[in-house]
Amino acid sequence: MIDHEPEIKVALLQNYRQSTITLKGIFYLSGRPIPEVINIRSLPGEVALSDAAGKALASGKTIRLAADRHSTFSVDVKIGIGFHWQRIVQQTFGGNILLRANPDSSFHLINEISLEDYLACVISSEMSAQAPPEFLKAQAITARSWLVAMLDRKKRKTAAPQINQTDGKEIIRWYDTNDHSFFDVCADDHCQRYQGLSLITSPEVNKAIRDTRGLYLVHNNEICDARYYKACGGRTEIFAAAWEDKSFSYLRSVSDHSANYAAISSEDDAAQWLRGKPAAYCNTADRALLGEILPSFDQETMNFFRWQVSYSREELEDILHKKSGIDFGTLQNLTVIQRGPSGRVSKLKIEGAKRTVTVGKELEIRSWLSPTHLLSSAFVISTKQSQNGAMESFTLDGGGWGHGVGLCQIGAAVMAKKGFLAEDILAHYFSGAALQKLYE
Ligand SMILES: [Zn+2]
Ligand SMILES: [Zn+2]
Repeated sequence: MIDHEPEIKVALLQNYRQSTITLKGIFYLSGRPIPEVINIRSLPGEVALSDAAGKALASGKTIRLAADRHSTFSVDVKIGIGFHWQRIVQQTFGGNILLRANPDSSFHLINEISLEDYLACVISSEMSAQAPPEFLKAQAITARSWLVAMLDRKKRKTAAPQINQTDGKEIIRWYDTNDHSFFDVCADDHCQRYQGLSLITSPEVNKAIRDTRGLYLVHNNEICDARYYKACGGRTEIFAAAWEDKSFSYLRSVSDHSANYAAISSEDDAAQWLRGKPAAYCNTADRALLGEILPSFDQETMNFFRWQVSYSREELEDILHKKSGIDFGTLQNLTVIQRGPSGRVSKLKIEGAKRTVTVGKELEIRSWLSPTHLLSSAFVISTKQSQNGAMESFTLDGGGWGHGVGLCQIGAAVMAKKGFLAEDILAHYFSGAALQKLYE
């Protein structure tokens, strides 16, 4: 385990060919201060910097712009890539800038920043600063633990690579953050949203970070791989439904309620659960509370506890073809092969006239079955057939938002509102994990 605050490398721009950054305060290039506006352009194997008038400043494979203590920089960033909230926004950051040329004549723009400063930005990007303070503290400890556990696995190279088992009949893939080289995390939903300093609008977030500085979820002398997501849908999921077939005692599937709901263990269970509306911490339609928890663009997604998506057969064939690259021909059936205890599908069989493929795990399924991504893979399927038995349409009745493993953010915020403390919230979602301060 660690004994001091780490520094991390966050990719703000990946595989860009050009960009402009605006500097506020002093930045140094090889020890010399540089102008306020910097144009970045990629050349084969190199990245080149010029000033606003086009005068060349530097070029090379990697270039570091070192920031003075309170200097900041602004850059246009694409956020929510591939998700329904994708957009371009100008964001401001603190810390050093590292530019790295890629072999394909593109570059990465990487921000070097101390972990606790990074966390303050992440919590602000993921959550509204008006969220309940005990929730912000629980979120800070969770995000900090997840991040350092991930950096640690990466350093020890013990993380399983992204797996791509494909023999034509079965395509089982999952994605983990250790697929990044040259930097630790990206700034998008793939890792954790990191949208810069402008979002820190309340002292509450900074206070939550300060109050929990150096505090980690720990189990068996290791920092917990503390995952989190928006809403479980009433029950949390196990690790293996989303990633490799491993189990962690602190990532057990738990009922997101004071009452103990049974785990989903059959298709009948799943249908009853996902077509019902059980009481749960994350089953809330309290707009005022959700407005306090979620940044404004996430409030566009209001029906997250239970939701429905319908496609005509032709529509779904088209989506599947685009998203999987596979031409299934006339779609004949979708069959759930495996689910986790929260109801999330981890293996789905897709039968068409030309091909039959079983797909997993949860994120791959969410991607294949939607022009963007389904909110979750916890769904049951109903179909409409014509008189000759051909499929006409498919309807998915679903629940929850995200992979469901670990802390349920909306549930945790509701718990905080009900008076639970951060340590109660963490004990609920991470059974058996202890809290430990690893540095002052
Ligand atoms: Zn990432
Ligand atoms: Zn929940």
